[in-house]
Amino acid sequence: MNIKDKSQIELFKTKIINSQKVVIVPHNNPDGDALGSSLGLYNTLKNMGKEASVITPNEFPDFLNWMHGVEDVIIYDKNVKKAKALIKESELVLFVDFNALSRIKLMGEVFEKDETPRIMIDHHPFPEASTAEIQISVPEASSTCELLFHVLNEAGFKEYITKEAAECIYAGIMTDTGSLNYNSSRPETYLIVADLLRMGIDKEHIHHMIFHNNSFDRMRLLGHALGEKMERIPEQKAAFISLSQEELKRFNFKPGDTEGFVNQALWIEGVDLSALFTEKKDLVKISFRSRGGFPANKFSETYFNGGGHFNAAGGESKLKLDETVERFKKVLKEFCEANDFC
Ligand code: 5GP
Ligand code: MN
Repeated sequence: MNIKDKSQIELFKTKIINSQKVVIVPHNNPDGDALGSSLGLYNTLKNMGKEASVITPNEFPDFLNWMHGVEDVIIYDKNVKKAKALIKESELVLFVDFNALSRIKLMGEVFEKDETPRIMIDHHPFPEASTAEIQISVPEASSTCELLFHVLNEAGFKEYITKEAAECIYAGIMTDTGSLNYNSSRPETYLIVADLLRMGIDKEHIHHMIFHNNSFDRMRLLGHALGEKMERIPEQKAAFISLSQEELKRFNFKPGDTEGFVNQALWIEGVDLSALFTEKKDLVKISFRSRGGFPANKFSETYFNGGGHFNAAGGESKLKLDETVERFKKVLKEFCEANDFC
């Protein structure tokens, strides 16, 4: 849908008005936009007198734990029983910042069988029909948080957005745009930021909590990644970083510690594609960022079972870390030879 299309928002409005128990779910490995939109919605719905809950598929990074309501978040893989009971009792489920059941990992199975009405609010391209019957899908939005604010406003719920909810919404807009660096050329984004500022958010405090509150270990891991582990593939205008489990352990890795590393590899002159390979217990998680015409989502979908946005995508590999990197080099060459992107 286009952001000007109001039909899905009307359905959202009616469902919200008629539902008391609401469950909100963001994607696996929630980032600032995923948790920000979940808690922005959670705080707003609570203010409307609803019984809302946020269930994340897995843990979220510490740099988001200042968000209002974060202590009420239920982590599915740590509390399956409680999460399932809440979903069973709920009258409405809201999916935020993802558009395919595979993006919520094991939690997806619960919804394959569940009949609770579902609404998706998301800005990723190519939503899957099975995700939810009502889909508010706007890829032109900078972030799900921007879209959420727009939706709440259009539905007539703006008066219920508290300062605390506004802080969560702002956090999602700024993390998904690299502090209004990319994906942020629509004037509407700034009108929303202006509204959030009028609601009294402390912008500088939010930036501090997210970007300038790093652990000593994380900064050392970044130094190691850039100094020892970054490689270039000049022929394909690419750069990448790979980190093994051993290296992550050495720097006391915590969820979120590698956030943003992939962007740094893209800041090199002459680099149009960057990748970050992070070895997990049973797979390698991959992040891609691109500049210009390189379709990171198409590349990730074709070779690494992933997807995402045109210039920011992710995927995974079941091969070993070094084999994954070798495969990446090979398929990137193939992809570039077959297309004009690089
Ligand atoms: P990140 O690199 O920050 O994890 O993700 C970048 C973008 O790609 C985000 O919009 C995220 O939702 C999407 N993404 C990350 N991993 C995957 C994946 O495994 N599958 C799909 N379809 N999208 C992903
Ligand atoms: Mn997002």
